[in-house]
Amino acid sequence: MSDNPRVPAARASAGDSSASYGPCVLLKHGEIFLKGHNRHRFTKQLHDNLRVALHGVGGSTWIKLAQNVTVLGGQVPQEALVERARRVIGFNSVAPAVRVPSTLDTITAAAVDALGSVCGKRPVRFAVRVRRRDKKFPLTSSRMEAYLGARVLEAVAGLSVDLTAPDVTLAVEIDRKETYLSWERYPGLGGLPVGSSGRALVLLSGGYDSPVAAHRAMRRGLACDFVHFSGAPYTNPSSVYKAYALARELNRYQQPGDLHVVALGKAQKQLAVAGAGRLQVVAQRRLMVRTASALAVRTGAQALVTGDSLGQVASQTLANLAAVDEAATLPVLRPLIGWDKQEIIDEARSIGTAEISVLPDEDCCSLLAPPRVSTRARLPELRTVERRLDLDEVVEALLGAARVLRPGQDDQEEPTTVGSCPAPA
Ligand code: ATP
Ligand code: MG
Repeated sequence: MSDNPRVPAARASAGDSSASYGPCVLLKHGEIFLKGHNRHRFTKQLHDNLRVALHGVGGSTWIKLAQNVTVLGGQVPQEALVERARRVIGFNSVAPAVRVPSTLDTITAAAVDALGSVCGKRPVRFAVRVRRRDKKFPLTSSRMEAYLGARVLEAVAGLSVDLTAPDVTLAVEIDRKETYLSWERYPGLGGLPVGSSGRALVLLSGGYDSPVAAHRAMRRGLACDFVHFSGAPYTNPSSVYKAYALARELNRYQQPGDLHVVALGKAQKQLAVAGAGRLQVVAQRRLMVRTASALAVRTGAQALVTGDSLGQVASQTLANLAAVDEAATLPVLRPLIGWDKQEIIDEARSIGTAEISVLPDEDCCSLLAPPRVSTRARLPELRTVERRLDLDEVVEALLGAARVLRPGQDDQEEPTTVGSCPAPA
């Protein structure tokens, strides 16, 4: 953001409260515009999330709702506001802008300032696009475009108009009282505001897939908590460190969720002793979703989320996924079911989780994994193995010993135990 063009100070006309005019950020709403009667609820959630993202930004801020646009400003550098807003799911674009009173003179002065500062000394082709949300404004949009274009050409040397392939497009949005001018726009994350679709519990391993699945779930409006199964006491804590770092990264996109860490090693051994053999991996996965389903009741989650992609590995055949679903008491959402591995890795890079996922770890799934995993686990055989354990007791013991961590909530650098999740009353 350091190469951002300087934002010109707005010139307010006499009598206006110029103190509140000046730099701001325009946030275009994403899918919310499709929501008829419910739009108010979605917008409220979006603004709540924006406020959370602005915590600690270093000064007072304000949020204002215009038509399908949120305007953000405050006593904070514009770059910082842009940086925070770009993490908030639910905005299609984020544009640094300047806000001026809706009078012809002030808009013209701001347009001249803006293009003057953007263009500097090099020759630049520009276009002006006007959107008049206030139809009472004296000039139509196209007349206003022509008027502003002419005034800018008169005032700034080295510019030429190009309406087909401009170097810079100055967008001018005229509301009844105020007008916004912007000439730079960053893509937003789109999607629905986190929390507007409810709450989910993500089964978070250390790989590439589950963090991307979590991010996709958030983009469909799900607030996420996380559960990670380690192979403790038979593995080192490296997978927990990775899950912690991944959850912290994912929590940058939402009001931070908790990370529950469950030591699965002993239960994995019990399944092996019970004769799981080639069913070991699917039996473990069933135990994971059983445990996660019980945990979800405590965290208020209405669905589980996994990073499964159909056929990616032997445990993810249709038969095996169906066998896993059968053990869950909540819907199991699999946002990546149709994704290729490369698509998943590319997405992991763009959301910032790839560099954590690539680190080596001791994963619980490789512990006790049979040389050949069954690709067609049958329920009767799985049940025969599972009957040799008291599953309810196993799940209860796993959750009783689980730890709850709060990645990103108080800037802890190391995973620190803060307690266990209480059972519902
Ligand atoms: P990932 O890249 O997310 O680890 P994967 O390609 O390695 O996925 P699997 O190991 O078969 O695939 O896991 C499938 C899904 O099961 C994961 O995406 C995750 O949601 C869940 N899962 C697997 N192992 C764990 C674990 N140790 N803790 C929590 N969830 C897990
Ligand atoms: Mg894995």
